[in-house]
Amino acid sequence: MKLLVVRQMISLLVIAMSLPFCSASLQADIFTYVDESGKTVTLEASLYGSGKRRGEMMHGLLKPDGSIVLVPQGKINKRELRAAPKPLTVEQMSEGLTKKFGKDKFRFHLESPFLVGVVLAAPLDGSDRTELRVKTFLEKAGRFMRNVDVIFETYSRKMGIELADYEFPMAMLIFESDDDFESFAKETTGLGDGVENILAYYSHVSNNLILRMSECSSFDTPLHEAIHLQTINRGVVKRFAPVPTWFMEGIATGFEGKGDRINVSPDRINTHYALMSGVAKLLNWGEVVALDGVFGGSVLSGDAYVHAWGLHWMLVTEHPNEYLKYVQNLSTKEPFAEISPKDQYKEFVEILKVRPEELQLRFKVQLIESILKEKIKLPSLDDKYVHLEKHKQEMAIVKMTAVSYSPALPPRIEGWLQNISPFRPMTFHIMVLTDAGTYAEWYLPDVGIRRKIKLKPQNANKIMRGATGGRWRTYHVEVDSAYPGSEKAEAWAAGKFPIPAVSRRAQVDPSRSGQ
Ligand SMILES: [Zn+2]
Repeated sequence: MKLLVVRQMISLLVIAMSLPFCSASLQADIFTYVDESGKTVTLEASLYGSGKRRGEMMHGLLKPDGSIVLVPQGKINKRELRAAPKPLTVEQMSEGLTKKFGKDKFRFHLESPFLVGVVLAAPLDGSDRTELRVKTFLEKAGRFMRNVDVIFETYSRKMGIELADYEFPMAMLIFESDDDFESFAKETTGLGDGVENILAYYSHVSNNLILRMSECSSFDTPLHEAIHLQTINRGVVKRFAPVPTWFMEGIATGFEGKGDRINVSPDRINTHYALMSGVAKLLNWGEVVALDGVFGGSVLSGDAYVHAWGLHWMLVTEHPNEYLKYVQNLSTKEPFAEISPKDQYKEFVEILKVRPEELQLRFKVQLIESILKEKIKLPSLDDKYVHLEKHKQEMAIVKMTAVSYSPALPPRIEGWLQNISPFRPMTFHIMVLTDAGTYAEWYLPDVGIRRKIKLKPQNANKIMRGATGGRWRTYHVEVDSAYPGSEKAEAWAAGKFPIPAVSRRAQVDPSRSGQ
């Protein structure tokens, strides 16, 4: 199992009905409305769109920072017409964010129109060296955003897709601590505990990219989300418009690559998805096209991304002219408009002049032919079949191997941990827990920046609270980290470690292959 997580698309709104609205887009007005807490708010914004959400008529008000505020129709008291407001500059945006997160907890780098910021888990140690490390990290992230910009333009030019200029500054916010990421995501997405499974997201509401810092050791996950940001901010599609999920995810997966090297594009074979398409559970491409729901939440949603990649790749390589027309049609879709699954399917067939099911029938042959023609070597599938876990958690990459001669004996665990913090030494506590209720633990104080430590092999034979032992089938790894000098670090230094209890957390089933 490569990752414990399922990437989820954040679709915050369910839109039930569309209403025509005036899209004199650059008209900015002063809106006075009553917010959820009953406070009267006055806001300079333009009307982005209006439509029904959970049965209630809503207006989307677009603010100068590019974020959208959703206000129920009845709550708007006053609308004064005004001239267009200027979108914020990145400098103005940085002031707002510094105020929001606090001077000692926020650092940023400007790469206009992008702002890259890190929300620190704890104040830095005050040394110039550490500040420089943070700066270097942010500059790297800024270069990454710039590169994404270039590859997206290159791809669009090749396909004939016309791009608009950016209108708003765009922020990429990187959260150093997973806890901070999760509480911020909970607060801003309404996804509840589902945020635990999210690595990164593009928010249609704030127009920001929100990331866990642990995902930034390679820019693989951010790349996918940055493509969502590009697709929207370069005018390919509008926010809250009825754009099929297979398209949004198909184009984003098409750019996913390995690490920092961005050398994949949707018209080329993505070796990861090509490989996964051989093992993904079968999903009818007609359903992938019609039903956005196949991408959400369920165990199958990881596989839906694999199919979306294949479907998108087929269109780009085999039907480029019709693909362009299809994209142009998507660009005309207005915010808060609505389309039924049936019409979404119909539109696909009418414009692309091919049924998704036909593409699916041809896909395997086409893929194999292209692999042979381009002499592409697929990565090996090995990792999926050995008891091996490699994942990122809490600023660490951990790789574990469990060896056992009998399921009745606790496994012997070997592995390593790397501190992936680009600017802090960290202290780690690692536990490997089996489903039989036994575990092993390691305490690693003050691991240097980017240092990799080999763990002393151990048998997972400590007994969890409330456990009886017995045969084990699966195991999972939990990593906790502490900042130098923090309360947690001091408790650990005094030998106070948590004792895990049974059924505290759902077990990982290796048959669940997440994306
Ligand atoms: Zn996505």
